[in-house]
Amino acid sequence: MHTLKKVAAILNPPAPHMVGDGFRVHNFFPSGYKIKMDPFYLLDYNAKIEFSPTNSPKGVGVHPHRGFETVTIAYQGAVAHHDSAGNSGVIYPGDVQWMTAASGILHKEYHEENFSKKGGPFQMVQLWVNLPAKYKMSTPKYQAIAHSQIASFELPDQKGTIEVIAGNYKGVKGSASTFTPIEMYNLRLNAGAKATLSSNSHYNTALIVIEGNITVNGTGHAATNQMVHFAHEGSEIEIETNENSVVLFLSGEPINEPIAQYGPFLMNKPEELQQAIEDYNTGKFGYLEE
Ligand code: MN
Repeated sequence: MHTLKKVAAILNPPAPHMVGDGFRVHNFFPSGYKIKMDPFYLLDYNAKIEFSPTNSPKGVGVHPHRGFETVTIAYQGAVAHHDSAGNSGVIYPGDVQWMTAASGILHKEYHEENFSKKGGPFQMVQLWVNLPAKYKMSTPKYQAIAHSQIASFELPDQKGTIEVIAGNYKGVKGSASTFTPIEMYNLRLNAGAKATLSSNSHYNTALIVIEGNITVNGTGHAATNQMVHFAHEGSEIEIETNENSVVLFLSGEPINEPIAQYGPFLMNKPEELQQAIEDYNTGKFGYLEE
């Protein structure tokens, strides 16, 4: 017997702040709202904004990460990325970059050069996905997932597409490999579409309306830039679109381990944060040119 997953809250984007000079983000959690979203630790949402043309790309300079994964999902605009493990690439609309910082990495994230020169609309999501203790010090890894490579499920009657970034939707297996069970989809739905999602009741689950206007479980209405947070009750989610809509769906099994966080480091114990700071200061995260 499947029951509808209860909507806990429909959340407006919190006041934005700048990350470097290239990302204007609404932090839905953990700062904006104290919602439980483990294994997702942080969600920075760059709602759509216009950047004016410039010859010097905006962004964030070289900085470290340890103990988790950063997942960048592009909707508009383009971001160029370089890291100290030698990986680089451009994240274009529809692409997903899944970077496992794990034991430690340095990276920089800037608007891609041509996008910077032309300017235009820019819209991105960046998630921090936590790692279980046993993987926090594993080797860094990088999955550049182009839009064209993302496995997808076509809804009947050309009502839209569900892109399976991670997890499994009706037998379509997600493109990203994950360390813990995670369902992550981009739903690109036409007006009047109906889609049903399901997730375990104890998974932490939310969706963001990237664009459009949807009805959730028959009664909850959410529009562009709002997040729907679900309670640990029930397993099925019914989405109906009132106009063409793009929705990011996130659901994951909680890791349920202690958390110690300082800046870009996400560990289990305070002494591991001390170690991360020391390792960073002594060059153990490698080297990356500014
Ligand atoms: Mn970063």
